[in-house]
Amino acid sequence: MESRGTKREAGKIEVAEPRNKLPRPAPSLPIDPALYSGPFPFYRRPSELGCFSLDAQRQYHGDARALRYYSPPPTNGQSPNFDLRDGYPDRYQPRDEEVQERLDHLLRWLLEHRGQLEGGPGWLAGAIVTWRGHLTKLLTTPYERQEGWQLAASRFRGTLYLSEVETPAARVQRLTRPPLLRELMYMGYKFEQYMCADKPGVSPDPSGEVNTNVAFCSVLRSRLGNHPLLFSGEVDCTDPQAPSTQPPTCYVELKTSKEMHSPGQWKSFYRHKLLKWWAQSFLPGVPNVVAGFRNPEGFVCSLKTFPTMEMFEYVRNDRDGWNPSVCMNFCAAFLSFAQNTVVQDDPRLVYLFSWEPGGPVTVSEHRDAPHAFLPPWPPGPHQSAWPQSGPVPPPAD
Ligand code: GDP
Ligand code: MG
Repeated sequence: MESRGTKREAGKIEVAEPRNKLPRPAPSLPIDPALYSGPFPFYRRPSELGCFSLDAQRQYHGDARALRYYSPPPTNGQSPNFDLRDGYPDRYQPRDEEVQERLDHLLRWLLEHRGQLEGGPGWLAGAIVTWRGHLTKLLTTPYERQEGWQLAASRFRGTLYLSEVETPAARVQRLTRPPLLRELMYMGYKFEQYMCADKPGVSPDPSGEVNTNVAFCSVLRSRLGNHPLLFSGEVDCTDPQAPSTQPPTCYVELKTSKEMHSPGQWKSFYRHKLLKWWAQSFLPGVPNVVAGFRNPEGFVCSLKTFPTMEMFEYVRNDRDGWNPSVCMNFCAAFLSFAQNTVVQDDPRLVYLFSWEPGGPVTVSEHRDAPHAFLPPWPPGPHQSAWPQSGPVPPPAD
């Protein structure tokens, strides 16, 4: 084995460089799948730390009141016949997408539970806090050819916080969303209404309104490689009949997709849609995704359950398929890149990580508005900046 002394000799010229020329963290991160195709990294089995709900007015509640119960139609030989366009647009209350909530609801949960967090003293200081959806975007980045992203990152009391920023292109797309796409978004939520009930053991009631302000969010703990994670994700429903009633293994993710008729259509579905479904449900440990396939008239006539842990099998032998190791290794590499970039502990300092298809992840530095997203924390008893400036606590019941 080469001695340290020999290595020092070999590196003599580098060592002689002035201190300010010492190697710095790379200013950009490549995304090529070939760079990340090593063995699957360590990923801790996700455990639920808690949950919260958002009501029809998008108000926060520190409980499971918005959790719904999986209630599929009886399997008596008949196929379902769900009209996903029913109620559109008259019984649709879409969430106001102009309101940028950033990490606010998750921060409120954290503020109310940081004293009782497991993992020992200092666990939170070493963790990364974000939404599940942001991690999903990181997982699929090596295979994404359409949509870029921006993630804002700040460090406070050790913890690295990651919050998505809507890209200018995404904003234009949202503001010019074609009517048919708006209706398609409604149809996804309508499917949930046909498949879920407000109480266990009762049938769904699709006669009411579809209000996308309502959400049930699970807060989870995991670890990717050496990165402890605390993240929250919206959960569609829990299955009262699941083999284990312990979250997150009782949770079910619901999706709709176009009915497929040719092997080519299925292949494309496995390559593109299943990647997104896998990434979203693997992260929080949701074991099953139930798909409703809609015909051109907007009716769901067939259902199929895709176990999350079996999704990769559909592309394992496909040269143009995706690989879970690539997704997870890239995510781990990004988290290391972010940890090494955001060195200063300062909630007013924001590093903006930007990615567009075809290029590497780049980074820029910002201070205060408009990118700063952490409130002064913790608010003292007489300090009013937060949570009052974020989500306002609901009146006592
Ligand atoms: P997902 O995995 O992309 O569905 O996102 P998460 O489950 O991580 O959701 C995080 C939070 O963002 C929840 O409060 C959701 O209600 C909210 N959310 C989900 N989708 C969207 C979206 O498309 N836009 C915005 N602004 N918020 C969303
Ligand atoms: Mg869903």
